[in-house]
Amino acid sequence: MISSLMLAALSLMVSPPAAPAVADPEAPRPNLVVIFTDDLGYGDLSCYGHPTIATPHLDRMAAEGQRWTQFYVGASVCTPSRTALMTGRLPIRSGMCSSQRRVLFPDSAGGLPASEITLAEALKDLGYATGMVGKWHLGHLPEYLPTNHGFDSYFGIPYSNDMDRLASSPEGRVAITEPEIEYFNVPLLQDTEILERPADQRTLTRRYTEQSVRFIRAQAEGNQPFFLYLAHTMPHVPLFRSEEFVDVSRRGLYGDVVEEIDWSVGQILDTIRVLGIAEETLVVFTSDNGPWLTYDQQGGSAGLLRNGKGSTWEGGMREPFLAWWPGTVPAGQVVPDLGATMDLLPTAVLLAGGEPPSDRVLDGVDLRPALLGTGPSPRDSMFYYRGTELYAVRLGPFKAHFITQEPYGRDTNRIEHDPPLLFHLEHDPSERFDISADHPEVLAAIQSLADEHRGSVEPVPNQLEPRIAAD
Ligand code: MG
Repeated sequence: MISSLMLAALSLMVSPPAAPAVADPEAPRPNLVVIFTDDLGYGDLSCYGHPTIATPHLDRMAAEGQRWTQFYVGASVCTPSRTALMTGRLPIRSGMCSSQRRVLFPDSAGGLPASEITLAEALKDLGYATGMVGKWHLGHLPEYLPTNHGFDSYFGIPYSNDMDRLASSPEGRVAITEPEIEYFNVPLLQDTEILERPADQRTLTRRYTEQSVRFIRAQAEGNQPFFLYLAHTMPHVPLFRSEEFVDVSRRGLYGDVVEEIDWSVGQILDTIRVLGIAEETLVVFTSDNGPWLTYDQQGGSAGLLRNGKGSTWEGGMREPFLAWWPGTVPAGQVVPDLGATMDLLPTAVLLAGGEPPSDRVLDGVDLRPALLGTGPSPRDSMFYYRGTELYAVRLGPFKAHFITQEPYGRDTNRIEHDPPLLFHLEHDPSERFDISADHPEVLAAIQSLADEHRGSVEPVPNQLEPRIAAD
């Protein structure tokens, strides 16, 4: 006679894998769509005050959801910023930042370590279907690609669109500012295979959108929740757009590119509405880092924030952030609370009924109270790294700069400040008036927070510095 215990054991053996450990069966388990742009500034959307870039779809998204005004990324350049989004941790914890090589390049041997738990892996464990479309930039070697980091499928370019530049392209900036497709031998991948090389960059925004719509439609037919990560290649230079968006914007080329992304957001939200899954789907929109100011009119704008990409001034790391989930995220709300891309991992896992990883330091916090309109964000601090060095710390409204440095191509003087520069970011969002002399107690509190943080960082192998051996 077979005991009931044995039967239970047998049925466990033959049942499909991965009935995930859902800690909270009552959790809403929404679909999640993360739309992530590249080098878009805080001031580049009309709902964030841009006078001549028209973004009606993003403006509608903001009107139907939340528009956050103090939302941060984990670093001011691509690779470490994307690491923070995917892992819920500052990139210093995974070796995904460097003061020598700021991002991964086509000759890089490293990538996001397998030991990291990505947002995709965490949601997949909770029963989500996962798809990625767009720019990855967390390692282009096979073991580091999205399909080896928790995504069921991938369509996109593995690193930045200005990389793999051919030696035969014009010298200097002109190849970037007057680009041709053929100058950049960037591959377009489907999962781990090269689909096209060089990628036709004029069509990327459109094709990313078509792939995303296809993914959402396919998932909506099943009964699994889904996670889609759509990481646009644009508006990172070299700027390209579809024929339909040539000369449509009063802002010129850069505006054309952003307006095509706005169109894309409209397509995604319309698809979700038409499928009748809007009330089960959380969509967020943000960018990886601030505008690349050294590209003049081809770079974006951080609005009233100081500086841009590559810098630990606010313009490098504060981004637009919109959250949309009709019926759940309050409509038309402006949220001045602090939030960060690192918070999406714990927040999404909790919304899905799971528990965030407890075997490692997470820098992300649970944003559900602020997102659902039930209470304040628990985030009260932010750490600003340049490469592997902590340059500044925010605590409440105060931000202390221990070190400042101009980004790429400008005055590169690294200046250590003792005492640190101190700004009140809510009274002085442009970081113009140093008030360190008036607030020694604030400086002391920030200093001890910085010391405590440094003590929590363990040394790990650097992923950005090793290069593929030339043969
Ligand atoms: Mg970027």
